[in-house]
Amino acid sequence: MDVPERYEQLIAYLGSQLPAPVEQHPLDDGALQFTGGDPPEVVALLTDTSVVVSAFSGEWESAFKFTAKPRRMGILKWRRLPENALLAALSALIKGAREARLASFQTCQYCGQKTAPEWLHDTGVCQACSDRHSGAIH
Ligand SMILES: [Zn+2]
Repeated sequence: MDVPERYEQLIAYLGSQLPAPVEQHPLDDGALQFTGGDPPEVVALLTDTSVVVSAFSGEWESAFKFTAKPRRMGILKWRRLPENALLAALSALIKGAREARLASFQTCQYCGQKTAPEWLHDTGVCQACSDRHSGAIH
């Protein structure tokens, strides 16, 4: 398989292997960023030579500004790896990133929803329930 074909194959593979829904964004430097999951779980960055897999993470810098700070799990030089080894490694990294991200979720004590850390108001209470229970106006 030649390089453009392998690149297309990687795009298709990431689109099908990342947790749904998968969003694909072209970046200014020509890289393609994939985000899978809602709330986001795994981020993959595909360039001409490498694919980087990260667990989604981020923090609120203010009440309105959320900055994503993905935690890198691994980088694969996709042109150098044989196809089977590449896809197996990619699959393992996606699985690991997803597990790491989901391990950071907490179950809300009011609604029972598994909640991402950036949407937890307090330990064990999601933002929506916190708003409902306190009647707070933001
Ligand atoms: Zn809740």
